[in-house]
Amino acid sequence: MTTPMVKAEGVHKSFGAAHILKGIDLEVAPREVFCLIGPSGSGKSTFLRCINHLEQINAGRLSVDGQLVGYRQKGDKLYELKDSEVALQRRDIGMVFQRFNLFPHMTALENVMEAPIQVKGEAKAVARARAEKLLDRVGLADKAKNYPTQLSGGQQQRVAIARALAMEPKLMLFDEPTSALDPELVGDVLDVMRGLAEDGMTMIVVTHEMGFAREVGDALVFMDDGVVVESGHPRDVLTNPQHDRTKSFLSKVL
Ligand code: ADP
Ligand code: MG
Repeated sequence: MTTPMVKAEGVHKSFGAAHILKGIDLEVAPREVFCLIGPSGSGKSTFLRCINHLEQINAGRLSVDGQLVGYRQKGDKLYELKDSEVALQRRDIGMVFQRFNLFPHMTALENVMEAPIQVKGEAKAVARARAEKLLDRVGLADKAKNYPTQLSGGQQQRVAIARALAMEPKLMLFDEPTSALDPELVGDVLDVMRGLAEDGMTMIVVTHEMGFAREVGDALVFMDDGVVVESGHPRDVLTNPQHDRTKSFLSKVL
């Protein structure tokens, strides 16, 4: 059996008295495009943030590529990882947010070069060569010298994807990457994501783009109120939902 890229077992997360994730169980296989849908406030972003150690879970087990997030297990005891060890885990995971958060004072090329230089101590020439390739891959070779304000939202988001890829992650997390974009700019970003999927990248995609989920997704999970309500192949879940909550949600977004 291959090691799952992500495995969640009974994952709970609370903020103070607010119980947000109420026992999430799921598995993402390597090379899988795993789509996560659900109403606003159901805990989708919180779950992604736990995978990337931006939040710590309160109970359960969460692992990435066979390693517990934030912990090392010895026998039946868990030990918290040091900050430097957490940083090592996190650099294998790329994350793209709804808002692109590019560095405003850097060009597109510099944005993509930055992390490998700062985090991995990579030589500038190496980082530059990779960044040029990545900008080409997201269709922005001719925008390398542009600053974020000189790019459309869709172009900025494609730079953000290239920037995440520059760290050569084994897992990419997308949190509603097209939700802040004007409709005519959504397609180019989805095309880049489709290309990544074809190249075998493991991806968890929180999205309201049901067309993307149906065409590109290998698995689809519907989450509501901190639990997985329903999961399966996207075609099955989208065309033949089993639960009333799924049906009601889909009737609003489809
Ligand atoms: P989704 O991405 O599905 O819309 P979120 O994971 O963003 O949902 O949020 C789920 C719930 O958790 C919301 O009620 C939100 O207000 C709450 N929440 C998220 N982050 C925090 C935080 N840092 N502190 C307190 N509450 C939070
Ligand atoms: Mg969210």
